[in-house]
Formats: sequence, structure tokens, C-alpha cells
Amino acid sequence: MACHYYFDMGTTTSDTIFSKIIRGEIPCHRVYEDDHVLAFLDINPIAYGHTLVIPKQAAATLDRMSDEAGAAVGRVLPRLARAVMEASGCSAYNVLQNNGGLAHQAVMHVHFHIIPKPATTGVGHGVGLGIGWPSGKLDAAEAKELIEKIKIALRR
Ligand code: 5GP
Repeated sequence: MACHYYFDMGTTTSDTIFSKIIRGEIPCHRVYEDDHVLAFLDINPIAYGHTLVIPKQAAATLDRMSDEAGAAVGRVLPRLARAVMEASGCSAYNVLQNNGGLAHQAVMHVHFHIIPKPATTGVGHGVGLGIGWPSGKLDAAEAKELIEKIKIALRR
């Protein structure tokens, strides 16, 4: 079954709002920065502490990131998650990463949401991420076929 992505393949990734934030053309509430990664508060938080972590590489989606950019983000994500949890007073949180318009990606520059999940919320603060999880059952024959397809793709 084919997956259809609704994001604009023609848009240059260096023109997104996040590239402008990286270049300092648009302000942000910066939480962390190094040579490869920037983290800042989400402008429309769904929970107190909602933070975005982005690579400085202008890749639209996760699959388009270089291994180096992926490693740079991965290296700081745990530390950022710990800091956001301590600051928000939450022990539960979601890391959300949307790819493609169909998957709710609005800004076509890879970003990881760190979203605290508060047990109770204060006035004006969001409740964090709500998740729909319409699960099915894994069919053994289909799984075997799928594994082969993924292995072939991994070899490319
Ligand atoms: P997406 O749906 O693409 O995964 O999420 C994009 C996120 O970027 C949204 O949560 C939205 O509030 C946030 N966002 C969009 N524009 C800006 C901006 O200019 N500044 C900041 N800090 N966040 C933004």
C-alpha cells in the first residue's frame, strides 16, 4: 500500500520559519544551542515546557537528515528531556516527531517536540499530547514479507 505525503516537495527547506530562526532572522525563546542543534520553546505550547529540538541542517523530514545531524540531535535529546522535565515538574512526557503533512507536520524542517505530560494542569497550561492509537494485529506472513522489503531498502 502506498503512503501519500501532502507536503510541498518544491519548497526549499532553507526558507522555512525554523531556518529563519536558526539564522537569527526571527526571534525565539532559545533553550540550547550548539554547532549542529538548536532547541527553543514552542510558540503555541500544548503543555508547560513544550520545547522544539531541531538540527541546523535544513532537512525537511527525518529520513532526509544526514547521519551526522541525526547523531547530533540524538546526543542532546536525553539531556534536554531531563532539563525540560525538571523545569516543568513533570515525570512523564512525549517526544513527537511528525513527517509529512498527512502526519501533521506543519513546518518542513525536521523537529522533535519534547512535550511534558502533566498529571494536572495549571491555569492557561495545556494538557500535553493526546494520542489516538488505532492498533491492528500483526500477521505472521505479512511480517515476513515486510521484513524482507525493509532489509532490501536498508541495503540501498
Ligand atoms: P509540527 O506540526 O510541524 O510537528 O509542529 C510545528 C510546531 O512549530 C508547532 O507546535 C508550532 O506551534 C511551532 N511553531 C510554528 N512556528 C513557530 C515559530 O515561529 N516559533 C516557534 N517557537 N514555534 C513555532
